[in-house]
Amino acid sequence: MTPEQQTRGRERELAELSTPVTHVVSPQRSVWDYSPAPETTKAAIADRYGLFINGDFVTPRSRKHFASINPATEETISEIAEANADDVDAAVKAAKAAAPRWAKIDPRERAKYIFRIARRIQERSRELAVLESTDGGKPIAESRDIDIPLAAQHFFYHAGWADKLRFAFAGAQPKPIGVCGQIIPWNFPLLMAAWKLAPALACGNTCVLKPAETTSLTALRLAEILQEIDLPPGVVNIITGAGATGAALVNHPHVRKIAFTGSTEVGKIIAKACASTDKRLTLELGGKSPNIIFDDASIDQAIEGIIQGIYFNQGHVCCAGSRLFVQESILDEVIAKLTHRMKALRVGDPLDKNTDIGAINSKAQLATIHRFLEAGSGEGAQLHEVNTSTLPNRGYWCRPCFFTNVQPSHTIAREEIFGPVLSVMSFRTPEEALLRANNTPYGLAAGVWSDKGSKIFDIARKLKAGVVWCNTYNRFDAASPFGGFKESGFGREGGLQGLKAYVEL
Ligand code: NDP
Repeated sequence: MTPEQQTRGRERELAELSTPVTHVVSPQRSVWDYSPAPETTKAAIADRYGLFINGDFVTPRSRKHFASINPATEETISEIAEANADDVDAAVKAAKAAAPRWAKIDPRERAKYIFRIARRIQERSRELAVLESTDGGKPIAESRDIDIPLAAQHFFYHAGWADKLRFAFAGAQPKPIGVCGQIIPWNFPLLMAAWKLAPALACGNTCVLKPAETTSLTALRLAEILQEIDLPPGVVNIITGAGATGAALVNHPHVRKIAFTGSTEVGKIIAKACASTDKRLTLELGGKSPNIIFDDASIDQAIEGIIQGIYFNQGHVCCAGSRLFVQESILDEVIAKLTHRMKALRVGDPLDKNTDIGAINSKAQLATIHRFLEAGSGEGAQLHEVNTSTLPNRGYWCRPCFFTNVQPSHTIAREEIFGPVLSVMSFRTPEEALLRANNTPYGLAAGVWSDKGSKIFDIARKLKAGVVWCNTYNRFDAASPFGGFKESGFGREGGLQGLKAYVEL
């Protein structure tokens, strides 16, 4: 094929992409569409939940509960206990009392408990997936295929380490730290609970876990699983509540280690609180991760990577590829193909198996996203709202969108949006891509797309990010450490490196 023919072919392809994605079927029914595919598994939800302390569900000393809202319907689905400082104290005391016995138990027995947690998560996986999607708004396909299997994987993986810790740290005698306070966010509720609990338990520590206010239900279901597998009382305690509950846990004098995942803002507050103590601390915070597409990349594959990078879980992902850098020579092609692909994304009912993008986790988060959309347009970027999915009448929804004409100084290029909003920028040379990608206070993750292995290794080495995905994005594995640089936090979770945070060497 001559270069002219190649160019004409490319132009034809781009012209085809700009036509609407509808297929005429019959005069009566003018477009192909997916029939609803509702999830049929039911997950029982109690009207009211207590706190899980010392192996039992107990009434909170605070006598307070708050509503848990289904973000897809705005209905109250349950009342969740709000732990005050006295409740936190009771949970920490239970964990402290359980610590000596749990630390001394034969590590092979400890492994069996953790293994049983993993097996029960697998056995109850569909129910957990329904619960996760109902409580948090994420599509059932994601909770079913990603969140819950990965949560089980983390327990399986760490069950394997429980009796091999002295091989993990050659020459050392690893010992448990004691009571670990663990605070998790709302974007991957059960998975984050697994990330925190599995290594802590494998290393012989006891835990007090605080889930996020808007997504407590799967952590409470996990508490039921812990009862089913006869985990000794007090080894894991789960206290629900808001920021004040988390703060009481951070400041409790008997807590030996804090593990926090959430916003950089709260991470800084926690770092200050721990600075004057001998508490160990790991922080997994925000990000504004670059996803870099070179002109020699497989474009169709990269488009899927862009979609997966930013629109997975409604963009509520700390490592979301929210800054897209495209080499200038392929910018038009990437934008045309991205637009075409985004038109096909289905936004709606999280419990429909065809849904790609579910509900925004809360009313507050939706308002935050809208503020960023206004800031983007107000500062001069061009908003592309190319997806036209019909949205349900109730619930919190945001169609996936992207901005072009984005300058590095724009708010949408600098701050974590935590929503389905992508900022597209271009670059000319690898050096420029690197410079711009690293120009951020964050350093959690990055993506590189190229057919050239040497280029990928060179760029990946120079990117200041805890995780760099090459020709893929948002891949997770329990054996692979995850964590950030700079304002994305410190410490690693997962893998051998993740164990280090939970042992005294
Ligand atoms: P937060 O950082 O406030 O929440 C994370 C967890 O910390 C929750 O369990 C929260 O409880 C708890 N918490 C809140 N304040 C304190 C405190 N002072 N001491 C101890 N624990 C505390 O995130 P938000 O839910 O408020 O979300 C705000 C923004 O943060 C988002 O828009 C997003 O940009 C970012 N974010 C980033 C995440 C990441 O993984 N990088 C995860 C979540 C949010 P509660 O939920 O009950 O308030």
